[in-house]
Amino acid sequence: MSTTTRVFNFSSGPAVLPLPVLEEAQRDLVALPGVGMSVMEISHRSKTFEDILGRAQEDMRAVAGIPSNYKILLLQGGASLQFSMVPMNLLTPGATADYIDSGSWADKAIKEAKKVGTVNVAATTKAEKYSRISTDDEIKLTPGAAYVHMTSNNTIEGTQWHRLPQVGDVPLITDASSDIFSRPIDVSKFGVIFAGAQKNLGPSGVTLAIIREDLIARASDSLPTMLNYKTHAENDSLYNTPPTFGIYVLGLTLKWLRNQGGLEAVAKVNERKAAKLYAEIDRTGFYRGTANKGDRSLMNVTFRMPSEELEKKFDKEATAAGLDGLKGHRSVGGMRASIYNAFPEAGVDALVSFMQEFEKQNG
Ligand SMILES: *Cc1c(COP(=O)(O)O)cnc(C)c1O
Repeated sequence: MSTTTRVFNFSSGPAVLPLPVLEEAQRDLVALPGVGMSVMEISHRSKTFEDILGRAQEDMRAVAGIPSNYKILLLQGGASLQFSMVPMNLLTPGATADYIDSGSWADKAIKEAKKVGTVNVAATTKAEKYSRISTDDEIKLTPGAAYVHMTSNNTIEGTQWHRLPQVGDVPLITDASSDIFSRPIDVSKFGVIFAGAQKNLGPSGVTLAIIREDLIARASDSLPTMLNYKTHAENDSLYNTPPTFGIYVLGLTLKWLRNQGGLEAVAKVNERKAAKLYAEIDRTGFYRGTANKGDRSLMNVTFRMPSEELEKKFDKEATAAGLDGLKGHRSVGGMRASIYNAFPEAGVDALVSFMQEFEKQNG
């Protein structure tokens, strides 16, 4: 393999980006057309950058159908900082926030929210190693809660919501870090949608928060300026220097997403890719899916094999065959194939063939 040959990258994040995005960034890296400087070298207050930011927001609004009463904030600090910013801004004194504990990232969000205010864990599947999503009957919400927090895709455990919890008028907050814009989304059902960009949208360093305008007003002025949604909303994400290169690549990815035909089109491909992998996992008893069938993730496909020795061997041989990043998260072990929007279907086909061959040799 030559040093510049691209492998099939199953990394959970930062993750694979569309090749046309990388190629455009590479082509224009030294000098943006008509600008004569790299995007990394220009002021975030320049007309050029304002256009880049504005176009990224416009494309996002168009591709996801984001209503006009929602602001698109491009922030820093990752999804992890949103675990703090959401309660700091929206969990008003005396109120309770409901959290649905569906995975390791939800658990982290709960820990942060507890530092800020009163939290009710409305449902948890922790005792079942987060192998499924709680049913509607199991979710015990607080009347008049400040908000309900969910994690739309559980990156580590490989489960995903295929419905929304019934929250009535209470704002629904979702951590969509690992499935944002992988399928059509009705933004109007949410108070806040947040995501680190590095899984399905772009490079690390940019964090997206789509927030309903009336919720921005909840934030207390006593919050640190940088941690207040109001600051970023009022300054159109330009209060201080934003992650300019990351926003540029995010913009290229959104343009790519539109060129693919939008969310309906990528959802079809994502469904097909995941179906191929799950069919192979279910074909014999050699591979064993870890997620409850009805809650399986289309983004992170998790499975185990008969022994940890075989899992190690599988990972090693897969890597050598150009199938990279299949080792499961260190907290759960096993295997995980992350197949985000930009992951090519040919890579799924290659993995399925590899799995069949590996089972023949080792089953
Ligand atoms: C990766 C991930 C996070 C953490 O994101 P950072 O940007 O690294 O803080 C949070 N939630 C989910 C669902 C994730 O997949």
